[in-house]
Order: sequence, then C-alpha cells, then structure tokens
Amino acid sequence: MFLNPRLKSHDLLFYDALEKRTELTKHENRRHAAALKGFEGECLYDEIFNDVGHDDVLVYRDLYLKIGESVTQYDALVIDDEGIVVNEIKNYTGDYKVEGGDWYRAGRRITEDPVAQLNRAVGKLIGLRNTANSSFRVSGKLIFPSDDFYLHTDDNSIWSKIVVRSDLRRYFRQFRGGKIGNKSQFIVRLLSEQIAENPYFKSDVDETRLRKGVYCGNCKSFNLEKSRYHLICNNCGSKESNETHLLRAMSDYKILYYGKAMTRNSLLEFIDGKIHWKAVSRALLKHCFINKNGVSTTYHFKYKNFEDALSKANCHIKYKDYLTGK
Ligand SMILES: [Zn+2]
Repeated sequence: MFLNPRLKSHDLLFYDALEKRTELTKHENRRHAAALKGFEGECLYDEIFNDVGHDDVLVYRDLYLKIGESVTQYDALVIDDEGIVVNEIKNYTGDYKVEGGDWYRAGRRITEDPVAQLNRAVGKLIGLRNTANSSFRVSGKLIFPSDDFYLHTDDNSIWSKIVVRSDLRRYFRQFRGGKIGNKSQFIVRLLSEQIAENPYFKSDVDETRLRKGVYCGNCKSFNLEKSRYHLICNNCGSKESNETHLLRAMSDYKILYYGKAMTRNSLLEFIDGKIHWKAVSRALLKHCFINKNGVSTTYHFKYKNFEDALSKANCHIKYKDYLTGK
C-alpha cells in the first residue's frame, strides 16, 4: 500500500518551469535531464511494484527525514512488521563497472558511490531505531529499474546489495505475505515524526532572464489572444480559462521564486498584466493562503504545483479549457 503520492522533485519542477520562460544553459539542461531521468526511474519502480502488488506492505515514497542533525532523502521505504527496507532507486543506463569499490561508466569514474549512499541511508534509520529503543530490522537494496543497465564486477559482494530490472518482479514478490500490524504502525508513526522539507533546494534564479506573461498549456506559446473568460492560443488554437492560466502562473511563481513572497502586484507583473487585476484578485483569494501583515498582503499558493492544483481544483473551475490535440 502506497502511503503517499510520488511527486516530481523540486529540481525537476524548477527546470520544467524555467525552460518555459528562458533558454536553459548547458549546465541547466544537464541538471534538468538528470532530474527527469531520476523521476522516470522512480515512476518505473512504482509501476512495476503496482503491477506485482504491494497490499502486504506499507510504502513511503520520496521522503525527507530529519534524523539527528541532518536530513536524508529516501526514494522508497518498504515497511512491514519485520522492519524497514530502504530502496535507493538509480535509473542508470549503459555499461557500468565496479572495481575496488569505485563505480565507472564507459571507463570513467562517476562521482556517485551508490553503495555508500545506501549504507548511509540505512545507517540513519538504524540510529533512529536505536534512539527509539526499538528492535525492528533495517536493511536496504539499490534498485536499477532500467532494462538498459549492465553491471560488470569482480566483487561478488555487490550483487547482494542490488536488484536489477530482470529480478525486480521477483524481488517485489518477496514482500507478499508481510504482516502489517502494531509494529508497522509504530514504524510509520516514528518515521512520520521525522518528515522534513527538502533542505537542498535553493532557487537563485536571475529574474531578468525570465520571460513575463502567460503561455499556452499545449504548445507553450506566449502568443495568446484575449476573449472574455479565456485566452486563445494564436499558434495552436487551444483555449484555456483565465483561472487555469493564473493557476499555472502562481505555480511557476512559487517554484521559480522559491521562498519569495507573492503579492497581487508582483503576480500581475509576473504575468505582464495579461489578465485583469480583478480576476487575479479572485484567483489569489481562492487558491492561496493569505497573510496580512500591516498594509501589505502576501499570498502563498495552496498547492504543490499546477498539476496538483488542477487535480484538486478542477471541478471548481467555472470555465472549461479546450486544448487542441487532447
Ligand atoms: Zn498553443
């Protein structure tokens, strides 16, 4: 049983939003591609686990836990009454070699050390368990979900720590018959008390690089024409409501200007005044938490991102969207 949804990482959301409004540098493109690849690997893991079934275990996905003084990220934690299994998901593709504990791709040493990473993540949970004076088991596996991943090594101890695609279904089947009782509930409670925000994400985007305005949800063009309650794309003919555009803009604002307060004026500036201020006010009141501080009022977007907003707010949006080709 999945306990929480798999959401895109901050990095991925950031570069997804950034590329709509500026040209990415080479470095940004690489970061974007890496974030996307990681997310795809996690989705593949979820898909195969879904297919095999996970009714007999509890699964946390993409969790940040503050244990002691540091925060550790977990791709997946599989829990039953026996304890916790850490699954560190690596969407590596191509030929890899492990020699003397070092990892190489196409002959070049890579900066990551997946085994050390896994050991650290497992070690943190062992520390948490010990502090709680409990006795559940903590173990871990590196999961390589791509069928295009090949590993060569003369170190046979590696194989006991990893699961490759061809063994993944069999691996998931081992969780069948697990017991979810008091111990599992205890573990879930213990973990939920440590959940933290992602501390690594810092947005330092240069605002002058960003194109202001609103863009088509279908073809991403900024060339839109106003009708009464909609904007119509001159490029592809899609028609989206003002409210949909504002949800997308508020989401972009939150992700790109991470931590920077949003006011009505700053949002109006961000959308280059393309939607009437009255509609902007309505959307802010409906979709944001409001923080009144003396004369200034700031707004905090209620949802994780645009997709999250649509899934929660869709039935309440008055005017329908018509995306071409969808
Ligand atoms: Zn369009």
